[in-house]
Amino acid sequence: MTILVLGGAGYIGSHTVYELIDKGEDVVIVDNLQTGHKAALHPKARFYKGDIRDREFLDAVFKKEKIDAVIHFAACSLVGESMEKPLKYYDNNLCGTKILLDSLTANGIDKIVFSSTAATYGEPERIPILETDRTEPTNTYGETKLSMEKMFKWVGKAHNIRYVSLRYFNACGAHSSGKIGEDHNPETHLIPLILQVPNGKREFISIFGDDYDTKDGTCVRDYIHVTDLAQAHILAVKYLQNGGQSDIFNLGNGVGFTVKEVIDCSRKVTGHPIPAKISQRRSGDPAQLIASSDKAKKILGWQPQHASLEEIISSAWLWHKTHPNGFNQQ
Ligand code: UDP
Repeated sequence: MTILVLGGAGYIGSHTVYELIDKGEDVVIVDNLQTGHKAALHPKARFYKGDIRDREFLDAVFKKEKIDAVIHFAACSLVGESMEKPLKYYDNNLCGTKILLDSLTANGIDKIVFSSTAATYGEPERIPILETDRTEPTNTYGETKLSMEKMFKWVGKAHNIRYVSLRYFNACGAHSSGKIGEDHNPETHLIPLILQVPNGKREFISIFGDDYDTKDGTCVRDYIHVTDLAQAHILAVKYLQNGGQSDIFNLGNGVGFTVKEVIDCSRKVTGHPIPAKISQRRSGDPAQLIASSDKAKKILGWQPQHASLEEIISSAWLWHKTHPNGFNQQ
């Protein structure tokens, strides 16, 4: 049985490939290396460089490899960029998924697990957020992911494709080996930006607003270790292989930390003072996002193993301090 990982050179994709190979699975990776990194590819996976919007390329991979299930990470995922270049997000995330679905249907592939996001909810109506809660995205990224879920719903019904959509909260941390980790350009995420300070690449971290209605005025997020996310994908593939029906699951720890708490914990882990400055709110940031992951625990049997914030930041720090320039220069 072979699993095809689309976007397997990216952050969550590469960690999932490492976990799959650890479990003895046969893995094929497709990535266009636009945001993914060659150095993040697992040496035991077979790699095909190409774009999911290229139907002939996808068909050729499905002809060559006997694929049992697909895990799909190949998408653009920056909220800010999605507001400036919405058509880039419609093109890659939705047109790409349309072509992928054409190819899956033509090649008889009937199981797929794909990345979705807490951004599908927009401003939450309650905390913790349940999968059945209102979905009203406040940015193009979340909107394209919600549309992707709907595309899978209708096409899946018509063509007998079963899917699992995983709505991640704040993915963070790095592989325990320190060999792979987060490397975005530009970097926009809180933990890697904080760790640029002790790495000597940034003088201070900006706190985007301290006047939210939260315990210390800064935004609350549910930080989930990338390896725990990777395990959820593997469980979701097993669920589909065992005949499970199409479904949507939140993935988070169910615990929220404020921006100030994340900075404090990073000071403790790195032993660096990490100066912080309050700046303006970032538009589109909800005050609090915390997942209820009870459904994933109950149905997929998922249990996060690296839930402590200190462990998450320590793993990220191991990666960043040994790779201050990410994958490009050691
Ligand atoms: N944030 C911040 N300073 C930064 C980057 C992020 O205060 O330099 C805040 C951001 O406003 C949000 C939280 O940190 O409340 C997490 O942001 P991130 O971009 O990592 O993830 P998001 O929650 O947007 O998916």
